[in-house]
Amino acid sequence: MAENYDLIAIGGGSAGVAAARRAAEYGAKALVIERGAMGGTCVNVGCVPKKVMWHAAELAQAFREATDYGFDVTQPGHDWAQLVERRGNYIRRLNGIYEHNLDKESVDWVRGTARLVDAHTVDVNGTEYKAPHVIVATGGEPIVPDLPGAEHGISSDGFFESIERPQRVAVVGSGYIAVELGGVLGGLGSDVQLFARYDSILRTLDDMLQSAAISGLEQHGIKVKLNSIPASVSRDGDELMLETENGKQHGPFDALIWAIGRRPLTAELGVADAGIETNERGYVIVDKLQETNVEGVYAIGDVTGQLELTPVAIDAGRRLSDRLFGGMEGRYLDYKNIPTVIFSHPPIGTVGLTEAQAREQYDDAVRIYTSDFVPLYYGVLDEKVRANMKLVCVGDDEKVVGCHLAGQGSDEILQGFAVAIKMGACKQDLDDTVSIHPTSAEELVTMR
Ligand code: FAD
Ligand code: NDP
Repeated sequence: MAENYDLIAIGGGSAGVAAARRAAEYGAKALVIERGAMGGTCVNVGCVPKKVMWHAAELAQAFREATDYGFDVTQPGHDWAQLVERRGNYIRRLNGIYEHNLDKESVDWVRGTARLVDAHTVDVNGTEYKAPHVIVATGGEPIVPDLPGAEHGISSDGFFESIERPQRVAVVGSGYIAVELGGVLGGLGSDVQLFARYDSILRTLDDMLQSAAISGLEQHGIKVKLNSIPASVSRDGDELMLETENGKQHGPFDALIWAIGRRPLTAELGVADAGIETNERGYVIVDKLQETNVEGVYAIGDVTGQLELTPVAIDAGRRLSDRLFGGMEGRYLDYKNIPTVIFSHPPIGTVGLTEAQAREQYDDAVRIYTSDFVPLYYGVLDEKVRANMKLVCVGDDEKVVGCHLAGQGSDEILQGFAVAIKMGACKQDLDDTVSIHPTSAEELVTMR
């Protein structure tokens, strides 16, 4: 006999948990199925441990800078293993909080690997669960390339398992994870080389941010190797060598991190067997209401290959449950103007259209405002880290369609400006706002 629910969320990550909890708030009987630790990628091997490591690297930088502020400090040693242990304790607390919240809101959860028997029946450890509404929220996993010796490298998952900081590190990739993990390791004292396939990094971002990201990495001693396509990895004892397609050998390294993107987790669940359509990269195809081709089956979060961000997964999940159980007909997540931050050193934030995208869409109607400055914090320091900001505006009313920030505090500055942009702010609205002085954020309301 199957156990019956109103909603089954497969995956206890950001998406599945958010959808199930919101459904339960409306009185639905909801079940979350999770094969691993509750909280998924973000809590266990993503945003949370990454941000802890980012703070550590920021602190290391603050120690280096403190002498220019008159402090009598020598660069202190850093105990990586202790940090990893404290980080693990914090994550375990979060796992418990996730489980407690599900219990508190009367959401049932089971641990085990789900397999679709049919589109509305899920098997977990030999027990069947049925629901008219089934959400696929199984997320993704890091890609390891199909290259000779690739198994000698680790992924971001492996990075978070490291109990020692590797000294000589190759980071292969040029997206969020490559920049963030490279920055953490470089900041904490490793010799890092970052290998990017093409002539830039973070290539989906505005050109200004790409340049700022490269400068930021280089200023922290990270060697950015552009036009370097990985060909093979070889191991000699504890040392690794990376060969690139141009025949060059790089190394030796103590660790090599693959950071070349992620792929969706759908095979084990049996998505295809249940008749749920996926695209050529395995992502579940959904419409704007997160509906798959099978009635009553939805997909949210990373498994859909849309913007792979925690708040996106959460908001898509909540809105879906608002629609299915909260009477909010037609409610869906609009994927336009979603802000995002890369936790580099200094951080990078972006929302809306890049300058290039705006020019392609609006041609001559685009007006760009930029600012390139040294934040006040660096005024008394010998080594300056510049900040760059760009507003992309269109039309006679100069509606702001893009905002791009690189520099100290960008991670915290962006959220409020993203609200303004979502509300349709024009340049004049920013100009009419009195600035907060002295801050970096004030540049955004004083650009001419
Ligand atoms: P997940 O969180 O991956 O959850 C899916 C869950 O499904 C997993 O727990 C998995 O175990 C489970 N599962 C899979 N298959 C099955 C099955 N068959 N049966 C049962 N359970 C199953 N985003 C941000 O917004 N900010 C950040 O700073 C940030 N940093 C990141 C850093 C790193 C290193 C990484 C890898 C990602 C980062 N992200 C960040 C992205 C963010 O983590 C993801 O977008 C988010 O976790 C997606 O949530 P999800 O619920 O779709 O998937
Ligand atoms: P990304 O998609 O951000 O970047 C991976 C990059 O690696 C690609 O863009 C590509 O860049 C390069 N690449 C792809 N294949 C290869 C290859 N075979 N060899 C060498 N380089 C290759 O993926 P990540 O793994 O960095 O992160 C996954 C997602 O997780 C991100 O897109 C983001 O949505 C999310 N995330 C969010 C964070 C945040 O919010 N701060 C932090 C970390 C992750 P190119 O085409 O230029 O070569």
